[in-house]
Amino acid sequence: MASVVQERDEGDARLGAPGTEPGARPDVVVLGAGVVGVATAYALARRGVSVALVERAAEPALGCSYANGGQLSYAYTDALAAPALLAKLPALALGLDPVFRLRLADPAMLRWGVRFLGNCTASHFRRSTLQGLTLGLESRLALHALLERHPISFNHALPGKLHLQHSRDALDAARTLVALKRGAGIVQHVVDASEARALEPALEGASGIVGAVHSPDEEVGDPYLFAIGLTEVLRHEYGVATHFGFDAESVEATAEGVSIEARDGRRLRASRLVVALGAQAPEFLRRLGISVPVIPMKGYSFSAPRGPAAPRMSITDASRKLVFCPFPGQVRVAGLAELGNGDVSVDPARLGQLIGLAGDSLPQAADYASAENGWAGLRPMTPSSLPIVTRARERIFLNIGHGMLGWTFAMGTAERAAGLVADSLVEERTTPLSPRSSV
Ligand SMILES: Cc1cc2nc3c(=O)[nH]c(=O)nc-3n(C[C@H](O)[C@H](O)[C@H](O)COP(=O)(O)OP(=O)(O)OC[C@H]3O[C@@H](n4cnc5c(N)ncnc54)[C@H](O)[C@@H]3O)c2cc1C
Repeated sequence: MASVVQERDEGDARLGAPGTEPGARPDVVVLGAGVVGVATAYALARRGVSVALVERAAEPALGCSYANGGQLSYAYTDALAAPALLAKLPALALGLDPVFRLRLADPAMLRWGVRFLGNCTASHFRRSTLQGLTLGLESRLALHALLERHPISFNHALPGKLHLQHSRDALDAARTLVALKRGAGIVQHVVDASEARALEPALEGASGIVGAVHSPDEEVGDPYLFAIGLTEVLRHEYGVATHFGFDAESVEATAEGVSIEARDGRRLRASRLVVALGAQAPEFLRRLGISVPVIPMKGYSFSAPRGPAAPRMSITDASRKLVFCPFPGQVRVAGLAELGNGDVSVDPARLGQLIGLAGDSLPQAADYASAENGWAGLRPMTPSSLPIVTRARERIFLNIGHGMLGWTFAMGTAERAAGLVADSLVEERTTPLSPRSSV
């Protein structure tokens, strides 16, 4: 269950004042400064916990959070593991799908694949999608509360979203999901092709659309700008210590706390560690004897100047698995899915394929000939598409596995993770951990 966001002004009498004196040992190290790590540091600092934010890159959000699709997709949290995907498996296995590729090359990935298949039943899909929806709604509340206190500038907008469908069957399936989500208070309308065109000029010249789901409350924002802005707030208003260029290699846990060592020999000590390493979490955690069902799913994005019929709202093309996000002066397009591919380099052929798919989908939306900033990122996928927020050891917590929706889910899982950590600190102050506790 999510913890209530506490007002910092009230403070958390249980935990003392926030902020970390230079050189002082923080209560918590948050490892990884993608959107998930930065949001977690904030949720902890709000609870009066002293925090250090640690990242191997020189800045926050240079990993998967850098140039994703930009959609804050609170109403569209549909799990990847779905009955409809099962029917496509033979084509996927043979590499015949232009968008989706499978590369489950080692035993851990095959085990993941088996768990994923187990999640493809109608009941699992429904459960995962609804649990994602709850998390999405928690995230939206937490983001709006943050922005009331700290008006960070990250091209945040509430333009709504149009989810395009190209077959009657797919539109009918979408209609069933809309009805399911209505029960959770989500506002969505199924519209036919002409209504969709009236709502969104970017559909000019687009062919094959049979209808769409319109979600008027959906939001967009640039995750990189958000992480940069929030990190500044953390430093200056919450006294959070930041350690960039700290490439964590190992962790030792003792009765006194955790000690995190970087490849260059530097050490940081804290009472607790929150691992928010995205797709790099499994490798890091393996060294601690912790195994997690997270594998990478590579995707691409590019930006292009706005075209003659630029999108007003954010658009998902369900059949091409593409998202179009309107940013000032630009359209960001993201897509492609290579499950099991952990190589983050940009393959020019795949990037070209993404640009071609976008042009086929919405020909007038962007000036595709001027596409730039080709980028690839690794979505940290779990078999259920739900993130893992848990206490893995007495002093080690995980906030990982955000998959296709980490930007959307970051604020909600941050609240959940911070709640677990804060509760454990309170517990320790009233009932000290066993002196024999270890990693
Ligand atoms: C093409 C594409 C489009 C997407 N579109 C959307 C979208 O529209 N909406 C949405 O909600 N989500 C989207 N996502 C998903 C979203 O981007 C991810 O789920 C999210 O960014 C994951 O965030 P994270 O903080 O967990 O991981 P990351 O951003 O990868 O952060 C992990 C951090 O850990 C650091 N790190 C790793 N190892 C170490 C170490 N040993 N020591 C120190 N630091 C380390 C990394 O440098 C990195 O900064 C998309 C993803 C892709 C690839």
